[in-house]
Order: sequence, then C-alpha cells, then structure tokens
Amino acid sequence: MRLSKFFMPILREAPREAEIVSHQLMLRCGMIRQETSGIYSWLPLGYRVLTRIMDIIRKEQARAGSLEMLMPTIQPAELWKCSGRYDDYGKEMLRITDRRENEMLYGPTNEEMITDIVRSSVQSYRDLPLNLFHIQWKFRDEIRPRFGVMRGREFLMKDGYSFDLTAEDGRHAYNKMFVAYLRTFAAMGLKAIPMRAETGPIGGNMSHEFLILAETGESQVFFDSAFHEKDWSTFSIDYDDRDAVAKVVEEFTSMYAATEEMHDPKRFATEVPEERRVTGRGIEVGHIFFFGTKYSEPMGCTVLGPDGKEITLQSGSYGIGVSRLVAAIIEASHDDAGIVWPQPVAPFDLGLVNLRQGDAATDAASEKLYEELVKAGLDVLYDDRNDRAGEKFARMDLIGLPWQVVVGPRGIKAGTVEIKNRATGERQDVPLERVVEHMRDACMEVPA
Ligand code: ATP
Ligand code: MG
Repeated sequence: MRLSKFFMPILREAPREAEIVSHQLMLRCGMIRQETSGIYSWLPLGYRVLTRIMDIIRKEQARAGSLEMLMPTIQPAELWKCSGRYDDYGKEMLRITDRRENEMLYGPTNEEMITDIVRSSVQSYRDLPLNLFHIQWKFRDEIRPRFGVMRGREFLMKDGYSFDLTAEDGRHAYNKMFVAYLRTFAAMGLKAIPMRAETGPIGGNMSHEFLILAETGESQVFFDSAFHEKDWSTFSIDYDDRDAVAKVVEEFTSMYAATEEMHDPKRFATEVPEERRVTGRGIEVGHIFFFGTKYSEPMGCTVLGPDGKEITLQSGSYGIGVSRLVAAIIEASHDDAGIVWPQPVAPFDLGLVNLRQGDAATDAASEKLYEELVKAGLDVLYDDRNDRAGEKFARMDLIGLPWQVVVGPRGIKAGTVEIKNRATGERQDVPLERVVEHMRDACMEVPA
C-alpha cells in the first residue's frame, strides 16, 4: 500500500476527551472515529488490525473444532422472554419495535438464539458434540461508555457456544476453549491470565476471565507472580486428548489468580508466598462459562439418547472482546513515540520509507524494493509522500509497524538501507540485495 493512496487521517494531538493512551493513539493514528457515544467507525488502519485479530481467533477456533457461522445483530424479544432474561437485562438492552409492532432487540449476546437453532435442528445424540461460534457486533447500552473501543456500546465480539450430552463432555468442551484462549492470546503476543470469575447475568457454575495486565485496566487483580515466569507461547496441544487438555487447564488454574469480585485474601495469603503476591490492574479480553442446562432446560433444548430417552443438553459460552483487544494490545504495547504492534496483529508488516521523495536514485531504489517486498508476500506500507524526513520518522513510530526499512540518499550510494526494529530501536544497515530475504525472515509467522 502506498501511503499517498491510503486513508490514514493522522492527528497531531490527541483530542482532549481521550483519557487513556490506547484511545489517544487510536485517534491520532486515524484508526477509528467516534460517530456518537460508544459507537465507532473503523478506518482502514484500524480495520486492518481488527481483521488480523479475527484471523488469529478463527484459526485457533477451527483447530479446537469450533465451526464458524453468523447470526444476525437483531433478535426477536420472544426468545429472551422464553429464557427469562428479557426483564433481567434491564436498560443495557437496546429494545426496538418494528413497523408491525413486533418487539425486537439488538443482541447483547446470543445464548438464546443459538439454543433455539440447536433445539430446532438437532434431534439425535449422534449429532453431538457441537461447538459453534460467530464474530458479530453486539450492543450494550453501557451506563458509562469510555476509553474508546475499550468500553463501547456497539462492539465486536467473538462468541462461541458448546452443546454436549453429558456434564463430562461439556467440561471437556470448556477445557478445550480454555486452552484455545491461552493459545489465541499468546499468538497475538499477549499474556492473558485466566482468573476465576463470577458467572454474572449469564449464569452457570464455572467461569474464567482472561485478563491482560495494564495500569489503566478497569479490574483490580490479584495473582501469583509465577504467571510471569510461565511461557505459554510455545506449548502445542492435541485437542482430542482429554487428559492432555485437562492437564493444561489444571496447571493454570492451580496458580492463584482472581479479580476483585472473586478475591479471597485469606487463600491468597496462605497459598502464595509473600514475595510472589502481585496486585495490579487488568483488562478483561475474554470470558468463558460452563452453565450446564441453564438455557437448555427452560428452552427445551433436548435430543433423543441411544435408549430413546430425552437428554437435556449441557452448554457453555465463550466470548472474546475483539474490538476491545485492539485497545488492550496498545495499552500493553506502546512507548512515548507511539504504538509498538506485536508482529502478528500489526496493520502492516513493515513501513518502507523513502527519505527523499523526488530524488531519482532513492525513488528508483524504493520503488524496486516495494515491488519485491510485496511480491515476497509481505504487507508493506510504502511512505512515498513528499514530507520532511523528521515527519516521516515520527509518523512511522506513531503507527508502530514492527519494522521500518529506510531508503536514504547516503545509503543508496553505499548500496544499503537501514532497517529499524520498532520495539527495540535497533538499527542495522543491510545491503540492498539482501533486504527482501532479511525482511521475510524477520516477519515470518511463528508457527503455532
Ligand atoms: P465487562 O465486565 O468489561 O463489562 P462483561 O463481563 O459484561 O464485560 P462478557 O459478557 O463477558 O462481558 O463479554 C465477553 C467479552 O466482550 C468481554 O470479556 C469483553 O472483552 C468484551 N466486552 C464486553 N463489554 C464490552 C464493551 N462494552 N465494549 C467492548 N468490549 C466489551
Ligand atoms: Mg465478562
């Protein structure tokens, strides 16, 4: 992509209403634009990150055996009256009446709808287990939308749902998603700590939240510093191996980690040695529940078992805050100059900077490199604009692409370009003919 043809409305200063750094940086980089309170447009740069996050989620969900589908944003109120949540949800639910006076709502979540789909289409025990997910916009009329897309009113969520015959199978479905979430967040370059959680209005009997540590997080968290030492970016897993999956879950849940609501100071003090007790703040990026028959029971979601008897299905639901993640990643990864994108979620792999647009030699070298890098399969943002060098550097640092390939007149005379690592600040002169290979190695996807 040529910057001269891209749409990335950079702001020199962050608008005053942006309180936290991720919101400030997203606005400054032209990633999002507020349309009204808690509702945002995603501009091309922001949408690229959102897309990369969705790709990572999809890949791991597929591995774990979940099938992607798409349910609508608008739902009939009737379904929610059936589960009993129509009244419980209160003012957070956006209620709509259509021209025929039908009561509708903009979905805050999809347990009712998916249960309705499964109860009407699945009749036999042979059709189970089932695990279905979608990535769809949700609406919750939050009292205090704030921090940009971190707490919006309309936001993008991945929500998945499992259906099983027995509680034991349901537990395995839950465990699989637990592990899939660990791997999903690790693949984004994040450490998201699973914490025992309250089940809240979704209800049920087992639940974990996944939190990223950040000073601006809305939740207070208490955990064992052993989490810091754990390297979960590399473990591989066979999702069909129940014991192996359960072992990973056990390994993570045996270490103390809790949000404020579930924190037990006594247990914390007895289980965790003083020097390992950490108190901090976190951002909730994922939340999983196993709720058994909470929805299947009232909604009559049953199948016929091998003996012809009716079985009420066991379910769980599994959410990821897709749009919130964009902000959460920035909270976890930025410096004074701007965003520092982890490679897997970066909007482009690298920025190619022509330091002297209009100079025949640098133009020719930049154009040639651009063509070769793109041909090598790299996502390149090519700064071909006629701006001062200082402005170009500041802009590249601000938008935080993992690598900057800088083509300047001096280097070209020597047959080299400068490659800068945005995260470490390290610079290296690389011969022109080695740049493509060098960048391909640097940006190559880490195999999961
Ligand atoms: P919170 O406690 O932050 O209000 P929640 O527990 O109500 O969230 P869930 O029902 O667990 O949310 O939804 C699944 C995920 O969706 C959350 O883990 C979070 O990452 C994301 N999410 C929830 N509410 C919002 C929101 N208003 N804006 C952006 N993302 C959200
Ligand atoms: Mg939650």
